[in-house]
Amino acid sequence: MSPLLSVTGLRKSYGTVEVLKGIDFEVAAGEKIALIGPSGSGKSTCLRCLNFLEKPTAGEIRLDDEQIGMAAGRPMNDRQLAPQRAEMGMVFQLFNLWPHLSVTENVAIAARKVRGLSAKEARELALEMLAKVHMTHRADASPLELSGGQQQRVAIARALAQKPKLMLFDEPTSALDPELVHEVLKVMEELAAEGRTMLIVTHEIAFARDIADRVMFLDGGVIAEQGAARELILAPRERRTQAFLKQIR
Ligand code: ADP
Ligand code: MG
Repeated sequence: MSPLLSVTGLRKSYGTVEVLKGIDFEVAAGEKIALIGPSGSGKSTCLRCLNFLEKPTAGEIRLDDEQIGMAAGRPMNDRQLAPQRAEMGMVFQLFNLWPHLSVTENVAIAARKVRGLSAKEARELALEMLAKVHMTHRADASPLELSGGQQQRVAIARALAQKPKLMLFDEPTSALDPELVHEVLKVMEELAAEGRTMLIVTHEIAFARDIADRVMFLDGGVIAEQGAARELILAPRERRTQAFLKQIR
């Protein structure tokens, strides 16, 4: 079976600095992958290249066998890219909800824009997604009234409302107060149990060990080591993986 996502020869430079030096990996439908690595190793850049929030310098990204960002050998513009981006629901470190819209409206707006739903359909879908992240009780609140953990759960609902094929998480808990981390990880765990395909950048190593099928360790612009999650985290082979894991424990 062909993979859901395939990344081949991905490179990204900023000016003369090459941040990604040739990344290759595949993600099967339903697979959970944790991407770990030191600060500045290019984890965010890698995620952002997948949906062309950053334009790769070289390489090919395919989702469901459709090439991202290119049509008939030419780069796509933002309008062409929008439906492809919607297939990859992205959750960032900072949630960036609209403060002047209610929680439900924040989620519904994604569904309306991206999926072209009517206002009523979008609201229904939004409420359904808010239930998934256990935020139904704050549906009419302003994001400003919510804790960071609650805001991040709304941001997850917003990404889900696009009905993506793949969820991308970029350190979704690292801006949160420690006591709020758990509620977000719990929601992610529930999504994982639903069989969703997830690529997660995280420093929560215990979470990666328990949730991910596979872990990739990014260092120096390449995937320095990858393997089954428990194996890689409990018994890393490469010295730099060992050093990294020792340091963040
Ligand atoms: P990580 O997410 O692993 O911490 P990043 O992908 O954010 O790493 O960054 C990787 C490297 O690329 C860093 O050295 C960072 O300074 C650099 N970088 C990221 N974005 C830009 C940009 N827009 N312009 C120039 N350099 C960048
Ligand atoms: Mg980052």
